[in-house]
Amino acid sequence: DSAKIQALKTRLDGIAVEDDPALVRKKSRDFYWYSPVLKRVLDSVLGEIVVTPKTEDEVVRTLAAAFALDIPVTPRGAGTGNYGQAMPLAGGMVLDLHELSGIKDIGPGYVIAEAGALLGKIDAATRAHSGQELRMFPSTHRTASIGGFIAGGSGGVGSIRWGGLRNLGNVTRTRVVTMEAHPRVLDLTGDDIAKVAHAYGTNGIITECEVPLTVAYDWIDAIIAFDGMERATAFADALGREDGILLKELSVMGPGVGHRYFSQHGRFLTADQAAVLIMVAPHSASALEAFTRRHRGETVFRSDLIDAETAKSLPPLFELTWNHTTLVARRVEPALTYLQTLYPYPDHVAAVAKMGRLIGDEMMDHLEFIRFDSNIVCSGLPLIRFTTEERLDEIIRIFEDNGCLVFNPHRYTLEEGGMKRSDLGQLAFKREVDPKGLLNPGKMIAWDNPDFDFSDPRPYLFSQPAA
Ligand code: FAD
Repeated sequence: DSAKIQALKTRLDGIAVEDDPALVRKKSRDFYWYSPVLKRVLDSVLGEIVVTPKTEDEVVRTLAAAFALDIPVTPRGAGTGNYGQAMPLAGGMVLDLHELSGIKDIGPGYVIAEAGALLGKIDAATRAHSGQELRMFPSTHRTASIGGFIAGGSGGVGSIRWGGLRNLGNVTRTRVVTMEAHPRVLDLTGDDIAKVAHAYGTNGIITECEVPLTVAYDWIDAIIAFDGMERATAFADALGREDGILLKELSVMGPGVGHRYFSQHGRFLTADQAAVLIMVAPHSASALEAFTRRHRGETVFRSDLIDAETAKSLPPLFELTWNHTTLVARRVEPALTYLQTLYPYPDHVAAVAKMGRLIGDEMMDHLEFIRFDSNIVCSGLPLIRFTTEERLDEIIRIFEDNGCLVFNPHRYTLEEGGMKRSDLGQLAFKREVDPKGLLNPGKMIAWDNPDFDFSDPRPYLFSQPAA
């Protein structure tokens, strides 16, 4: 209410606050509109004030004031999440962390950055400093923050080599401010990182992140075309398991997807070709060519073999992968939406073909190959021609009935979206550091509705952590 917000402003004297309705509305939104379901459910969500701290001390002061006044706080990095994660369901404060963007230290194999630092800026700095780069980033490399990636993301470009964000070792340390009368600043390492990784900022505000670096390469973008999805999928699956070829990205687009939706790279593909999109290290390029010949693929694009002018005019290939595929396809056909799937290993290639047959023209394939528990597995972000929410649920059921996992991108809670069960470690940590439940309310079912029935017999991605 306005009296509380007024009192908050007084307490936050000296810290940047903004309550201009247009700006507050803009900062109360993310990329939730990808989902016609979330668009309907979340369209009216609005905060009351945006606070933009510049230092960790200002974060501490801001949280102490919000705690004293019982004002909900929803953190925001760059607001590129797809599930309304950064949208303030209970109103109150949007805590905009984009000014907390310093890069504090770079050394052999690590970088320490403040949470609001953009991933692309971190990569540019570590490259210039010592020829190192991040192991993985979401395809929103240019726009997303490292804190937002750790709190809201799951993996992306680089996951074919390094696995997911939540795999041990892919985040070294997070520094977190608690939501208490006297906020504490905690450094989390090892298993403790999972308490806040992919927790949507429901149990602590990340102010600083330490992540591992690897050798930076001038990655070559390549597109290999195939007649038919089955050949493209089999090629990608075999390539992922070819141990000597160093890749940073390996995705497959169903027949026609590239031609129809890639505004610039589309011209390298015909209307019915399936395409494998690859980022390969320069020293592996000739091996990739040999491998492609063995599989009778056609190399239709290599970023190092075109003239420099054309190369400069093209976006990086990774901006056509992961959830950028959905974005560029929606630009051409706004009624498209998507799902997030995992095909059952080791029968994933057959499962992709089967799902294609079962769903038919309502779906266009988009696969992302990743390393998962040391196997090369196949996840999907298939494009769906949206008709009704009921039909969308039915398509999800068809996937699940055929042994595929679906991480429903049309839900905004942690449990219904990704994990399917409550993460008891994250819940216990919330009890400890956010006793009033003021951090990003409404996103953790385990907190809001402990009686929620999770007895569903479907398989889940993460097994129940020890209590
Ligand atoms: P935000 O959207 O601002 O926040 C994400 C979540 O984290 C929210 O719940 C927010 O409350 C919380 N949060 C933000 N900062 C903090 C903090 N400092 N402390 C605590 N909580 C915080 N995701 C992937 O994982 N892989 C991809 O390849 C990928 N590709 C994408 C492509 C497109 C075109 C789009 C639109 C999205 C994509 N995403 C992807 C989703 C999203 O871009 C990423 O997860 C991104 O890293 C989020 O960063 P952000 O700074 O925008 O976070």
